[in-house]
Amino acid sequence: MASAGKIGEARLVRSGAGSFALRLSCFMRVLPETNPTDWLGVDIGIVNLAADSEGHRYSGAKVECVRTEHVKTRSRLQKAASEKAKKGQRPKNIKRKLKTRSGKESRFMKDVNHRISKDLVAGAQGTGRGIALEDLQGIRGRNRLGKQTHTRVNRWAFAQLRSFVVYKALLAGVAVVFVDPRNTSRECSECAYTDKRNRKTQAEFRCLACGFTTHADLNAPCVIRKRAAVSRPIVSRPA
Ligand SMILES: [Zn+2]
Repeated sequence: MASAGKIGEARLVRSGAGSFALRLSCFMRVLPETNPTDWLGVDIGIVNLAADSEGHRYSGAKVECVRTEHVKTRSRLQKAASEKAKKGQRPKNIKRKLKTRSGKESRFMKDVNHRISKDLVAGAQGTGRGIALEDLQGIRGRNRLGKQTHTRVNRWAFAQLRSFVVYKALLAGVAVVFVDPRNTSRECSECAYTDKRNRKTQAEFRCLACGFTTHADLNAPCVIRKRAAVSRPIVSRPA
């Protein structure tokens, strides 16, 4: 990965009533981007926070579990706060607890995202591969994550993982390409036949045209990988 950075300027800024934040800027050495000869397709989602075309899956189960706990605690605290308010008491302590809770939750998620993105970039670095992600710009209107998003992993966590992958790749000199995200879960990674019915269940992918069968989580990253090769053709450099 990148070598240690050099600290630039520091600024103390007010970040709310009675609290300050120290903002440090830091110069990092960015490794020169290597010309990729192949791509590691990465699908970022919810059931799996990430799955790559090598078959590595980063399950969202643990995150989901911690999150459910947080949701329970939060609603218990909120209930306690409103009961206090009804009695005309100020729920100051509870509000403080709620704030601590949400801080804990986002730190946990951030840590998970750091670890996954580090792993993904390490999987591509030094192998001659770049990383291919779905291009989610301009499709904000479409609900990529489905209805479950609100109760499950937050949108910001999903975006954070993507941005961590991108900046860690940049530091490591790993190229990143964004591919068309349409039908990545419906297209066969073997023959490119696209049909909603290829995806039999949440878990099973079976191509109606060529019979290729795999775990649905593993098909999409392979489609992403193939699209990357097309969208950014690999031209061998003259010796
Ligand atoms: Zn097929």
